[in-house]
Amino acid sequence: MANDSIEEAIAGLKQLLSEKGELEAVAKAKIEEITAELRGSVADGSVCPVERMKQGFSYFKTEKFEKNPELYGQLAKGQSPKFMVFACSDSRVCPSHILNFQPGEAFMVRNIANMVPPYDQNKYPGVGAAIEYAVLHLKVQYIVVIGHSCCGGIKGLMSIPDDGSTSTDFIEDWVKICLAARKKVKSDNNSLSFQEQCTECEKEAVNISLKNLLTYPFVRDGLMKKTLALKGGFYDFVNGSFELWGLNFSLTPSLSV
Ligand SMILES: [Zn+2]
Repeated sequence: MANDSIEEAIAGLKQLLSEKGELEAVAKAKIEEITAELRGSVADGSVCPVERMKQGFSYFKTEKFEKNPELYGQLAKGQSPKFMVFACSDSRVCPSHILNFQPGEAFMVRNIANMVPPYDQNKYPGVGAAIEYAVLHLKVQYIVVIGHSCCGGIKGLMSIPDDGSTSTDFIEDWVKICLAARKKVKSDNNSLSFQEQCTECEKEAVNISLKNLLTYPFVRDGLMKKTLALKGGFYDFVNGSFELWGLNFSLTPSLSV
């Protein structure tokens, strides 16, 4: 059977169906399923996720990887990105798409609501390791924290009851990293609607993250030596806009935040 041609396989199926007509409906459903799978979609017309990944890589390999041997050859030897980027895990805000970063250009951390926690070796070793590696080993020139419109994480932060009680295993405790942003927005913008307050907080939380970056000694060092700069960013995917800003910190070696 394994050596049969496709014609022989089809002929075999036809033969079977001519002998057992009652199998026709089952065979029809299976054929439609296989056809849809081979086309990259499941029977209901939506894309088969596994096939979608295979096709995605196939497209990348022929259209990008094989067409840019110089770039990928260089990247095979190492990376020297100029940017470290903090972005939200939200599927709509991938920095490589919105800023057209190419492979090798940006070292990224993506998490709920693009937050940078303060230096804490016990609570946040994952983020600390990424910042340490980016600054000390890759020697990135910029750390950019990018917030975005309609952020579910920020909405979650703004929705935490005033008594601070939480009902999630991880999410609320994580977004509490930017509790100071929520506090500022609620006191400065009391007359705004909840939605408008969330929008304010999406930007204010970026500023808290930038301040938190200053709690990492190697970040402070880089800023003092001017080998490193920090930028806040905001991507509005409703209006299709992007803005960048810096913060003026007065730095001293003994700064504590
Ligand atoms: Zn988000």
